[in-house]
Amino acid sequence: MTTAILSALAEEQQGLLELLEQPHKIRHAGRDFWHGRLHGQPVVLALSRIGKVAAATTTVALIERFKVGRIVFTGVAGGLGEGVYVGDVVVASAFVQHDMDASPIFPRYEVPLYGQSRFVCDEALTALLVRASRAGLDSLALPAKTLLHHGLVASGDRFVSGAAESRSLRSALGQGGHAVLAVEMEGAAVAQVCFDYGLPFAAVRTISDRADDTAHVDFPAFVKDVASLYAQAIIRNLLKML
Ligand code: SAH
Repeated sequence: MTTAILSALAEEQQGLLELLEQPHKIRHAGRDFWHGRLHGQPVVLALSRIGKVAAATTTVALIERFKVGRIVFTGVAGGLGEGVYVGDVVVASAFVQHDMDASPIFPRYEVPLYGQSRFVCDEALTALLVRASRAGLDSLALPAKTLLHHGLVASGDRFVSGAAESRSLRSALGQGGHAVLAVEMEGAAVAQVCFDYGLPFAAVRTISDRADDTAHVDFPAFVKDVASLYAQAIIRNLLKML
């Protein structure tokens, strides 16, 4: 079974691309898809690009054209939950779209016609990703206080970069019953497409910033220097477990 490894940004994907064996690039839907083998497993590496619609397009292409059997997302996110700090890792249990609001016709955050606001990740694949993330972190000789979290992640078409903005996002989601750990811009779209197709999906995000007033500084520095290392270490451990 072919595993798709999806990232949003080239910097997140770079380390994986460097290790890809028998690489073969296919251009489709304005995107590059890389076929090959990674740690003995058949994989397709792809960039979701940024935002929910772009991520949905990439996901559909992976399923329809490349016939992948499972999708794993590895990327970065802003920390929203208390105690979720830069350098920590969040493995998603489910996703919610923080900018979905068809109220009063549907409850806030509910995706119309699905009757739900959350899309859950595949339990078995996610359990492996938690183990792989732990092993990956251990292999990276990081500061002792780096934490591995597991829980809800919010996605929306907005780079959250203000303390007031992130506070109001967290409290509005909390009032809707959604205690979120992190915020990013693609995961909920991938989760929804995988739900539609009945495909296993799991996602891991390294915290690059706190979605606050310094997010615009923290984010690029983290993406440039560390994101790729985390992705490499975590995915290596995951592929060995499959
Ligand atoms: N101009 C930037 C845009 C990146 S957008 C660039 O290309 O370098 C931020 C990306 O990182 C998105 O893919 C999103 O999923 C994730 N992300 C990290 N921190 C985020 C935050 N605080 N808010 C929203 N998305 C965030």
